Amino acid sequence: MTSEIQENTTETPLLPHPDSQQYAFFFDVDGTLAEIRDEPDAVSIPPEVRQHLQALFTASSGALALISGRPVEQLDQLVAPLILPAAGVHGAEMRDGEGQFHRVTLPAQMAKDVEQTLAAGMEKLPGTLLEVKGMAFALHYRQAMLHQQHVLELAESVVAKHPELVLQPGKCVIEIKPRGKDKGAAIYDFMQQPPFAGRLPVFVGDDLTDEKGFEVVNALNGISVKVGEGSSLAKYRVKHVRDVYQWLETLQRHATLSSSTTHTNTHTKESHS
Ligand SMILES: [Mg+2]
Repeated sequence: MTSEIQENTTETPLLPHPDSQQYAFFFDVDGTLAEIRDEPDAVSIPPEVRQHLQALFTASSGALALISGRPVEQLDQLVAPLILPAAGVHGAEMRDGEGQFHRVTLPAQMAKDVEQTLAAGMEKLPGTLLEVKGMAFALHYRQAMLHQQHVLELAESVVAKHPELVLQPGKCVIEIKPRGKDKGAAIYDFMQQPPFAGRLPVFVGDDLTDEKGFEVVNALNGISVKVGEGSSLAKYRVKHVRDVYQWLETLQRHATLSSSTTHTNTHTKESHS
């Protein structure tokens, strides 16, 4: 994957303002809609940002979804009281555009064995944190950078034993997840179903896991946006999470404005290209 990623830190074009009726909106959460914290539990999305998400969700007739490595249950808590379409655990869990829930499961014994192996291995690496997500496992080492290599070796040993599982490196985390599930596949799945189908995708993300999403969005002639530094397949780039907030505010303002224009001034219907 990395060989295809190109530097585009120079000449990044200005972010466009895609029309809420013609585009479908996909957002990663950590590092995109929420500042990254040392503890994954300490992460939050400010109330006004949740309001902007809600406005854009409404203006786009529901074509807005969260695409994250977190389980859907955690995503729901982060955007409460909103209930949004969401792909959790890199698409291994999904609440689709009609509210139906889908989840990949691992054979019970295998999941138990993997968890035991990982727990035993991580116990020897102080400061690391094992997060069990049912069908996936996150090996966090943000608080123990010196163990990075050991964490990677432990994860590799587990994946070598179980061909149904693959590694997914992220920021200070190595994840083990079901093969065939990634953010690109999740976005592609959403794009096949209402209310996403027939639109162009917009995807904003910050991490290695989001590159699969950018790849799919580019192939569908959509708008891919990378948050922060580092090489990326994304066509656009912003520096910080707060730039995403600002863009979101502008988007929802445009969306609200264009819907009120349409409602109050029916004789001058605007055409959006
Ligand atoms: Mg992220």
